[in-house]
Formats: sequence, structure tokens, C-alpha cells
Amino acid sequence: MDLQLKDRAVVITGASSGVGLATARYLLREGARVAACARDADRLAAAFDEFAWADKRSIYLASCDVTDQQATDRFIAGTLNSFGAVDGLVCNAGRSLMATLQETTDQQFMDEFNLKIFGVLNMVRSARSALAASAHGSVVNVNAILSRQPELRLAATSAARAGLLNLTHSIAEELAVDGTRVNSVLLGLVDTGQWRRRFENAATELDYEAWSAEIARDRGIKLGRFGTAEEVAFHIVSLLSPLSGYTTGASIDVGGGVGRYV
Ligand code: NDP
Repeated sequence: MDLQLKDRAVVITGASSGVGLATARYLLREGARVAACARDADRLAAAFDEFAWADKRSIYLASCDVTDQQATDRFIAGTLNSFGAVDGLVCNAGRSLMATLQETTDQQFMDEFNLKIFGVLNMVRSARSALAASAHGSVVNVNAILSRQPELRLAATSAARAGLLNLTHSIAEELAVDGTRVNSVLLGLVDTGQWRRRFENAATELDYEAWSAEIARDRGIKLGRFGTAEEVAFHIVSLLSPLSGYTTGASIDVGGGVGRYV
């Protein structure tokens, strides 16, 4: 199926690994142009080495901390300079903080809200007028099932994720007048760098597959395994496609059946 993404310019935040990198791969295969950022420019460039097969003019890479509005303004200006347009924005940069309420400091709470809320708001503000100029402007916020179903050991992350889900509805309503659609994908547990790092730090005799299957079982994931970054990227890309032109303010659950909300 032609997703009608050829030559469209899509910004992806947090693209040096996991879901962001898989989304870049999918988009480049569809013939789209990709502007990708992360804080660590060297790691980002090394990750994009795999795209030697793509037209170099289809890729713009830069370091950008999404919590810094001046940095997001510069990144979007650089994207416009390279591509002349922004048709899509994937707000994906993030991490999670494993800690109970008792263990979480006020500063950690503030940092979680800063990243989850301003990491999206800054990019949306920077890219709004360029998205409005596109015939098919689309924003996808990568969020988590935690936004609807908090977990004890992810207290601050869950609260910040809930704030982002709520904010995404406001952004969708506000940008509808521009013709820009704004949607969320809600992740369960996805096999990416975050989990590989946790595995390396875990004192376990198990191999990664057995370790992750045990976590999937403990968390009540019906499909009994972590998702893959590619399985998430598919939904992000489909929401970017003009074929999703009548969908805004929606959330797609990509959690292997872990969501127990109605
Ligand atoms: P990874 O840890 O694999 O990648 C995170 C990316 O975000 C990296 O490119 C990192 O690069 C970048 N990043 C982090 N902070 C910033 C920042 N302030 N500014 C710019 N870039 C930043 O993440 P995943 O692929 O696992 O996750 C993608 C998204 O999905 C994240 O928002 C995550 O929280 C969310 N999520 C993931 C789940 C999972 O199980 N994997 C579950 C639920 C939600 P650098 O450090 O160089 O900046």
C-alpha cells in the first residue's frame, strides 16, 4: 500500500535508538525525508550509518535537547533550511524513571514533567507554522499506557505521561484550525535500548529473552512478550500518512494487551 509519504519531511525527536530509529528506517524506506535529533550527536550519526542506502539529501541530523525551546527553534529552522517543509512531527524523545513516590525527589519529578510536557510543547510551538503550511500536517506523540494505568514503581513517569495525554488533546483541538492532526501512540513494554540497559544492570542468570518474558508475564502482557520498535513504528507511520486524514485526538494502544482500562 502506498502510504503517500514520498518526499514528505518528518521530524523525529530521540531518533538515535529504539522507536525513533525504527520510525526513521520505516519513513526512509517509504521515500520520506527525515530530520532527526537527539542530545548526543555522535551517537545519532553512528546510528544513522545504517542508512547508507538512502539519499543523503533525505536526512538532516542535529543535536537538540527538546527541553530547550531555543534548541527546538534552531532544529526546526535547520530542518526548513534543508527540506523547505515540515509535514510531520514525531515527539518521541524520552526515558522513564523507575522509582516509587517515596524514592522520587522533587527535582526528579520536575525533570520528568519537563521532559514529557515541554519536550513536546517546545517542538510543537517551534514547528506549528511549518506544519500549518503543509497540506497534511501530522503530529504523533509517543506516550505510554502508563498515562492511563499508573504503576507503583513508575510514579513520576506515570503522572507526567498522564499530563502529556491530556495535553495532546488540547494540542489536537488547537491545531485543528491549521488542518494539523495530533495523535498519540501508547506503548507498553518495547524491546529497545532502555530495556537492554536495564538487563545489563540486572543481577540475573537468565538470558535477555527469558528475562524479558518473565517481566512480560509479571506485568500481565497478554501476548507474553515485549513489543518491537518496528511494531510501534508501523502505527506512528500510519498516523503520519495522509491516509489517516480523518483521525485526530486519538490514541493507539501498542501494549500487547496489557491495558486493562475500558
Ligand atoms: P531509547 O532509550 O531507545 O531512546 C531514547 C531517545 O531519546 C534517544 O535517542 C535519546 O538520545 C533521546 N532523548 C532522551 N532525552 C532527550 C532530550 N532531552 N532531548 C532530545 N532527545 C532525547 O527509547 P525508546 O525507543 O525505548 O522509547 C521511545 C519513547 O517511548 C520514549 O519517550 C520512552 O519514554 C517511550 N516509552 C518507551 C517504552 C519502552 O518500553 N521502551 C515504554 C513506554 C514509553 P540522547 O540520550 O542522545 O538524547
